[in-house]
This record gives sequence, C-alpha cells and structure tokens, in this order.
Amino acid sequence: MTAKVNSCYVPAEKRRSTLIEDAAVIIAAEGPRKNTSLLISETGNIEAIGPKSEIKEKFDAAEIALSARKLLVMPGFVNNHSHIAMTLLRGLAEDLPLLSWLRDKIWPLEANLKPWQIEVGAAVGAAECLLSGTTNVNSNYFFDPSGSEASAAFNVGIRGTFSHGVFDWTAEQALKLTKEFVETWHGKDRGRIRIATGAHSPYSCSPSLLKELEALRYELNEKHGGIYRILSTIHVAEATTEANEIQEKYKVSARNGIAAYLDSLGVLTRDTIAAHAIHLLDDDFAAFKRTGASIASCPVSNLKVGMGVANLPRDIAEGITVSLGTDGPASNNTLDMLETVKFASLLQKGIQGDTTALGAKTAFDLATAGGARSLHLPDTGRLAPGMKADLVVLDLATISATPFHDPYNHVVFAARSGDVRDVFVDGRLLVENRKLKTINMENLVGAVDEAISELRASSPTLA
Ligand SMILES: [Zn+2]
Repeated sequence: MTAKVNSCYVPAEKRRSTLIEDAAVIIAAEGPRKNTSLLISETGNIEAIGPKSEIKEKFDAAEIALSARKLLVMPGFVNNHSHIAMTLLRGLAEDLPLLSWLRDKIWPLEANLKPWQIEVGAAVGAAECLLSGTTNVNSNYFFDPSGSEASAAFNVGIRGTFSHGVFDWTAEQALKLTKEFVETWHGKDRGRIRIATGAHSPYSCSPSLLKELEALRYELNEKHGGIYRILSTIHVAEATTEANEIQEKYKVSARNGIAAYLDSLGVLTRDTIAAHAIHLLDDDFAAFKRTGASIASCPVSNLKVGMGVANLPRDIAEGITVSLGTDGPASNNTLDMLETVKFASLLQKGIQGDTTALGAKTAFDLATAGGARSLHLPDTGRLAPGMKADLVVLDLATISATPFHDPYNHVVFAARSGDVRDVFVDGRLLVENRKLKTINMENLVGAVDEAISELRASSPTLA
C-alpha cells in the first residue's frame, strides 16, 4: 500500500523568493494596507511589506513576481481543532444522538481503519484545508509508524500539530504510541510538523490516565521540546452530561465545571488547547484565566451535533486565548474555515441579539492570530517582516467581491473557498491558481475509493 499512498503525492518545489506586487490589499499585522507589495524570501519568511519601489530598492530581485492588483493577501487560517483523517467518514452517519453516533457508528469503524487508509483520509483533509485557505491545522487521530495524519501533512506541505487519541481502553498502547509519535515526527521540516498529546476527553480518560499522560508530556518536552513545545489537546465541556458521567465513572467531583476539574488534577496548563469549551461554569473561566490554557471553538460542529453555542464574547472578555476549528469532517462536514469564521460571528449576533457581537475583525483574528497564539507559534498567524510566509491570496475579481469595501467584512461574510487562488506555507507555493501542486488528484481519488470499499467490506455498521 505504501506505493499506492506515495503515488498520491507530488514532491514540493523548492522555495523561491517571490514578490507579490501591488496587492489591492494586504491584511498586515498592523492593519490593512492598500496597493502594497510583499516579499517572501527563499528562506520561507516574509522579508518586507511596503511600496514596490522601496522593496526593489532595498532587496535583491525576487525569482518570481506575482501581479496582485485584483488580489487580497491575508494570513492563512489556523484550524485549531480537527480530525482531518475523518474525511474518509464524511457523510457516512448523520442525524444520530451524539453518543450513539460515536459508540455505534464512528468508534467501531475507526477500530477497523488501517494506517494507509488514515493517511489517505488525512491527505484529502490536508488538501481540502489548503484549497480553502488554511495553512496550519491542529488535528487529533491515530498514529502508526507506517501511516498517519503527520505523514500526510508532511508530504502535502501544510503546517500542523498532530496527536494520537488516548482513551481508557487503549491507555497502555496509546502512551507508547504517543512517545513514538513524538520521537518520529516532532519538529520535522524546521518545526512545520509538531506533535501534541491527545487525551480524548475527561469522560473517556480516568484522572490517573490524564495525570500519567501529562507526566509523559513533561518528560518528552525535556528531551524533544526544544523551541517547539509539545502541547496537549483535549475535548472539554462539549456536552452538558459530561460532569455526571465523570462523577459516576471515576468517583470524583466535577461539579464546579470540566475545566476546573482538569485544573484540580494539574493537567490544565498554558500548553492545553481545550476543544469546544461550550458549557463553562464560573470556576472554569477562572481556571482558564489562572492557567493560561486556550480554547478552540468549533461552532459548525457544535451546531450540527446539537451541543450548543460557546460564549465566545465572555471568553474573550475574560482574557482567554480563543481560536477556531472545524472539528472532524464526520461532524461538520467540511474543513472550510471561511464557513467556520462566518458561523462564529453570526451565532453570537443571533444568540445575543446584538449585531455588534463578535464583529468581523475579531472573528478574523480568532481564526488566524488566535490559533497561532494558542499553538505557541508567535511567528505565524499574522503578516509582518520576519514572520513565516504562511499566507493566502484571495481573488477579488469575483462577483462575491464586487463591490469591495472592507477586507475583514469581505473575508468573514462574503468570501467563498473557491476565491482562494494561491496558498503559501513556510514560503512554499503549494496552491497556485486554485491547483494544489503537491497532490496527484487522480491517484488520490483512486486510493480513497479503494479505502472506502475495504472499509465497507470489513465494517458491519456500514451496511
Ligand atoms: Zn473533536
């Protein structure tokens, strides 16, 4: 199968210095700049942003020039919570109660997934991310040395943080695989690929397992952390039933909130990325504030699975780092951050009955800089000299951009993923004129077809 999976990839071209000339607008770190240019160096960083004449005067000629008069340049989206390999399970089971969806459909299917199928699913997911303007993804699934989300991302070229799902019933093997995942992949390609720990949730991991995993993370950070810290991800307060389930199963108290409970175990830290965080109590907000743990909110998945709406304005007002994610394609069903950022804003306006709630600029920041902050990647998520060139070029010569007034309003409320024209990650041009250069689409579709027919043959729940 290795040959089949490898035939899905096209080797990335080398980095070349690129001058994006006279962009209609660049959403730079200090704010939007009109009719301005951006130089990407061959080291993969942003060298300069400013008038073309100034850049040409100060810097050597770029190898490539991209005329951008009808284009918008922005930082790539950071999808801070997903399970990209689950693109394989997209649309397979719908309209079921959450726990029966997980226990009767998803988990039995996942038990049959082979590493090559996971890698193929993740390659489709990484492709969908890039083609819809995401340059950095935080994704949790299952690691195997012969195929994983990390190996797919490495080949497709997206930046990512990946973790192996840990549950009570896989504990021993999962701790071993987490260690091996870190040793094999953490920091690969100048830190483009990073590994985190991935406890599934406080209702599927016992307190002692959560502590054991956290102790392992400390140990791994000592050895392999370096400049790229090994972070931790976990689903938190997605359902209202979690506190009861934890209390009954583990005979502990979680009545002050799920995040507060994690804090009491010592496993909520500034390195923790809590997915969802919908049903928070006062003590939870205090725990987030005290520890510096961050939130990855997944508004579309939360709606689809009927879990509720997180109170993002309060999270932000409390000073918590908030970012956005799509969650897995089995519960969303896309990896499209343009859709997610719009839902994030509209939901708050609708729920709070307030048109000023979570405005376009704030939503845009959550989907870009917020994710970078949560992932401890200060040199991504914004466009400024010295930052990594993880950026997206949007077409403005489209009906959705006619007329064009404000860049934040356009991106958050009107732009469509089909408007994503070019995408750079770490200075590499991966999507050029809407075509992903690192994937052989025909071979990938063939591999997906084969993976699905094998899965159907081996999974009674798929009848
Ligand atoms: Zn999730």
